[in-house]
Amino acid sequence: MMSFTSLGLSPSLLRTLAANNFTQPFPIQQQAIPAILNRKDVLGIAQTGSGKTASYVLPVLMNLQGSTTTKNRHVNALVLVPTRELAVQVREVFQMFGSKLPEPIKSLAVYGGVSINPQMIALQNVNVLVATPGRLLELVESNAVHLSDIETLVLDEADKMLNLGFKEEMNRIFALLPKKRQNLLFSATLSEDINQINQFLLHDPLVIKIEAPKDNIELINQLGYFVPEEKKGPLLRYIIKHNELKQVLVFTSSVYKADNVADKLRKNGIDAIAIHSKKSQGARTKALSKFKAGELQVLVTTDLLARGIDIEFLPCVINYELPRSPKDYIHRIGRTGRAESPGDAISLVTPEDKHHFKIIQKKMGKWVTMIDSEGIDLKGH
Ligand code: AMP
Repeated sequence: MMSFTSLGLSPSLLRTLAANNFTQPFPIQQQAIPAILNRKDVLGIAQTGSGKTASYVLPVLMNLQGSTTTKNRHVNALVLVPTRELAVQVREVFQMFGSKLPEPIKSLAVYGGVSINPQMIALQNVNVLVATPGRLLELVESNAVHLSDIETLVLDEADKMLNLGFKEEMNRIFALLPKKRQNLLFSATLSEDINQINQFLLHDPLVIKIEAPKDNIELINQLGYFVPEEKKGPLLRYIIKHNELKQVLVFTSSVYKADNVADKLRKNGIDAIAIHSKKSQGARTKALSKFKAGELQVLVTTDLLARGIDIEFLPCVINYELPRSPKDYIHRIGRTGRAESPGDAISLVTPEDKHHFKIIQKKMGKWVTMIDSEGIDLKGH
């Protein structure tokens, strides 16, 4: 059995790992940690849940020990991420391990949608910066941070950064970095675009490919309801009440729908909050932590926000609206099958969705049991 001890990490990191019940390294960690410690470039094809964050956080912290810059506002490691949520999450992992080191490593997350001044002030003596591209460029432009001493660049969920249209901003950032540095690129998929970045950015990288655990699908109880559009609201409430669901993540395909669904749930006495890109950062963070703590029954959201957010032991996911891509469907429902705890994934399928849902099932390689909602008494819901 492989242990963290054999990977070349310091006693202080080993203690923090043990204290957080990281008993054994995940496959991506077994491969990435020694390579990153050797200052090699890495291309990691891995999803959220694979342990990819710790696979770079641990060795990057090790490499920074004793070699952090003393020049003010010159950071040593830069992690680019697509969303504010991921920025906060990654920074937490740096903080968890970095703050306990004999020479603590200071990390900070910066992202848009909140005022820039506190971030400018907080950038004093930061070693590791976790940033979304747009806000990083703003901070560079106002001389709040300098990128000329970067030793290691990490791109996390690079595929999503490209999907969200960060390509041009990423290129502007690359141009600001010193030529000699270590590059770590993580992406859920290896697309043509990612390969281009790989060719341009990485030198002789170690390529690590972690297959999405297919077995997960087998752990999920999938169920579909045929339902006409106008009955979706009552059916959703019926499902939540009838099954006494305590913690449900509901997906919609638009911001408008997310608000609408949450409003209707609340009007019917079900505790629900919608989070999406139009909500303030404060409101999102608050709703998410309430939901994680089990103090919020229903969280309604869109795909954009939900990716990359790691919620353990999520018992139920409901697709109020189906995602366009089968990949997103698998991604959504995959949140329930984590950590060996089986969960439920329920999809509301309108007559117009029927064909599309067939395609999703075909791609997934699994047929979903369907119930016709016509046989359900929705009165009072
Ligand atoms: P990630 O893919 O980085 O989002 O990590 C997924 C989850 O696995 C996070 O909640 C981590 O805290 C947890 N995790 C990562 N590595 C380990 C490990 N070696 N042992 C136990 N839990 C881990």
